[in-house]
Amino acid sequence: MNKFEVLNKRSSGKCELCSSTSGLEVYESTPFDGTPDKALLLCHVCKEQIQHPEKMDANHWRCLNETVWSEVLAVKVMTWRLLKNLSKELWAQDLLEQLYLEDEDLAWAQSGMEEESNNDQQTAATKDSNGAVLVDGDSVTLIKDLDVKGANFTAKRGTLVKNISLTSNPEQIEGRVNGTQIVLLTRFLKKA
Ligand SMILES: [Zn+2]
Repeated sequence: MNKFEVLNKRSSGKCELCSSTSGLEVYESTPFDGTPDKALLLCHVCKEQIQHPEKMDANHWRCLNETVWSEVLAVKVMTWRLLKNLSKELWAQDLLEQLYLEDEDLAWAQSGMEEESNNDQQTAATKDSNGAVLVDGDSVTLIKDLDVKGANFTAKRGTLVKNISLTSNPEQIEGRVNGTQIVLLTRFLKKA
């Protein structure tokens, strides 16, 4: 039996998420190890929305009410990921609480989503002009003269700013120059 046949048998010829019987295809869940255990039989609607989460139609996913109880692990893992993506819906939050995964299965569920969150962290890191990551308490040096608006002085190139604090904006930090707490743009700084 090929993969499609195995999955078709497992699912009794239905989409394993929404039970639709049309346009069924094999969907390989990431990370994929080549076995049917990590694949699902899905209709094109489910597949399309999984591949394009920005197009997700929350109503289509009411079917997850059923799949949280699935005995097929790949279905439960996909359910978990979809519920995470839908987590601004209250019903999805409730369902997620009912969905139980063993630790290693949870790790699998998360690993498929990890890439996305890693990217988020990278963009959120505060970095100096050379790309070195800055953290609270670091010291930095100004790489150009900066007019400090409102404080009426120029912070000179080469000024050492000790004990900086990060802000919610990765392009800005706060530090004390000439006794005044000011906001500095990280592109004009270098880690000391
Ligand atoms: Zn479907």
